[in-house]
Amino acid sequence: EKVGVDVGGTLIKAAIHTENDWIYQSFPISQIDDVAGWLTKHSDHRSLCLTGGKASLLQSKMSRSDIYFAPEFLASCNGARYLLTMQQTNTLTDFILTNVGTGTSMNLIKGETQQWIGGTGVGGGTIMGLSRLLTGIHDYDRLVKLAASGRRDTVDLTVANIYEGETPPIPGDLTASNFGGLMGQPSTPSSVDQLASVIGLVAETVASLSVFAAKNAHVDHAVYIGSSFVDNSQLSKIVESYSNYCGITPIILHHGQFCGAIGAALEV
Ligand code: ADP
Repeated sequence: EKVGVDVGGTLIKAAIHTENDWIYQSFPISQIDDVAGWLTKHSDHRSLCLTGGKASLLQSKMSRSDIYFAPEFLASCNGARYLLTMQQTNTLTDFILTNVGTGTSMNLIKGETQQWIGGTGVGGGTIMGLSRLLTGIHDYDRLVKLAASGRRDTVDLTVANIYEGETPPIPGDLTASNFGGLMGQPSTPSSVDQLASVIGLVAETVASLSVFAAKNAHVDHAVYIGSSFVDNSQLSKIVESYSNYCGITPIILHHGQFCGAIGAALEV
């Protein structure tokens, strides 16, 4: 049995490989001391491999000396390949892997090879930070629940809004300007509308970058992972519809937030 732990900027993700299944668990990074204790208890007879930006910090809080480390992108790419093999009938070999974590990183995966091709600082952390600045709400579950009933049309400007009555050269329901629809609005949009628009901004940014990356690399799938998709159906829906609209097939991996942890466990 083995344990992989991905120690990220916001969340610690653990994947425990038992005889015939995986057990997944995540914790806020603020609980890193408790996680160190929990791991010491639960992993002493199992191989342990850490990955992610705060892997050494977690190691420094543990007494165990036989801890392995895996490079972050290698781990998340291997975890994604593994989950795809488990979840898909025709396993995909060539795709863009977009990890929407605190920030967003993209890797091009072709067969056994992988290459970091860039990313953006617009990610799940942006959803948390902008939502808090705009509405004071910083609880993740509350934020995504509230956002689900929000309407973006009081905040964002669509192509149709600009072309008022004319026939636009591109679909009218595409966003022309995120947060660009406030001009001429008689009142400030509600908090829930603002939250929905923050999610829209992040979704459209990560999806459009992924689409460009996919087209540039001549692959036709984008696989999306990261905790930002957890319980956030709005983010998932916009990322899916935008990718599809651009001709790139999106796959939002189930348990995708554990790719790094799975990949780390597979290293030992
Ligand atoms: P990292 O590896 O950088 O920690 P993750 O893939 O864990 O990144 O994604 C972090 C993002 O996931 C947060 O910025 C937030 O948008 C979202 N998220 C999902 N669940 C939670 C939660 N319980 N608490 C805080 N953020 C969460």
